[in-house]
Amino acid sequence: MKTIFGIYVGLGLLSGALWAQPVDSEIRVLPVQGNIYMLAGPGGNITVQIGKQGVLLVDTQAAAMSEKILAQIRKLSNDGDKIGGGIRIIIDTHYAPDHTGGNENLRKAGKMVFAGPGAGAIRDAAEGAAIIAHENVLNRMSAPTGKTAAEPSAAWPTETYFGEEHDMYFNGESIRVIHQPNAHTDGDSMVYFRRSDVVSTGDIFTLASFPVIDLAKGGSLQGILKGLNEILDIAIPEAQEEGGTLIIPGHGRLCDEADVAEYRDMVTIIRDRMQAMIKKGMTLEQIQTAHPAREYEPLYGSNPGWSTGQFIEAAYTSLTRK
Ligand SMILES: [Zn+2]
Repeated sequence: MKTIFGIYVGLGLLSGALWAQPVDSEIRVLPVQGNIYMLAGPGGNITVQIGKQGVLLVDTQAAAMSEKILAQIRKLSNDGDKIGGGIRIIIDTHYAPDHTGGNENLRKAGKMVFAGPGAGAIRDAAEGAAIIAHENVLNRMSAPTGKTAAEPSAAWPTETYFGEEHDMYFNGESIRVIHQPNAHTDGDSMVYFRRSDVVSTGDIFTLASFPVIDLAKGGSLQGILKGLNEILDIAIPEAQEEGGTLIIPGHGRLCDEADVAEYRDMVTIIRDRMQAMIKKGMTLEQIQTAHPAREYEPLYGSNPGWSTGQFIEAAYTSLTRK
């Protein structure tokens, strides 16, 4: 568990370093397009959708950041006193301390909305915002570690889905919550805002490192690659120029389709090289020495929480596992 936590801390620091100057624990706001904003800080990126019905969040960062996140959301929703942050729906892309750590705090902040008029159709509204996730997120958060569950029940998803997709309509736009089996973890969702034309990917796509294959939580290299291809299926570039669908990665800067294509090509090349090496009977040690990710190491290999060596080892385990 410590190792996994270390990975996330490392990733968070690096994405902060790439995104914000100076590196600190501030929350920065970036208008994306349509109703969508991106909140960047020391943990995973948060996606915010704002409209007449209130605020929808994709991911919640670490618990320690909740106050700062709420302050930014109040500014964005500019009706702050009345709606107290106005958070009605939270979608978890997966279970990780730097993506779901703020669940409990931000869910409770949503409670103030429902205390007043306009308390809506969302189930469990009296308890605050709804938390939506793939069922494997709930399974992992509620699983006992020692005598208690991994997370307190107030942080758990209140609504889960299983299967490939969960569709919803909020703030005048349809939203597709799409499951990617065994990608970064076994509970990954990415969220596509159709009218705003923005995809929030969670850690299926992170610009701050090589792909993080969380083997202990059911992740796999092939699953991540499938997820990257799914993002490319959804995304449409604007002809001849920058623009079109915008992509909010789990960590790192705002991207467009070309960024995802480049990253997907990189992962495909490394996967193919490693498969050829495995076929030749090379051991993990020999593959590490052969540097199958060599030309990408300067760009993606310097993350202290997820080194090239860790990535190659996880990719090897994933590719050779029966
Ligand atoms: Zn992450």
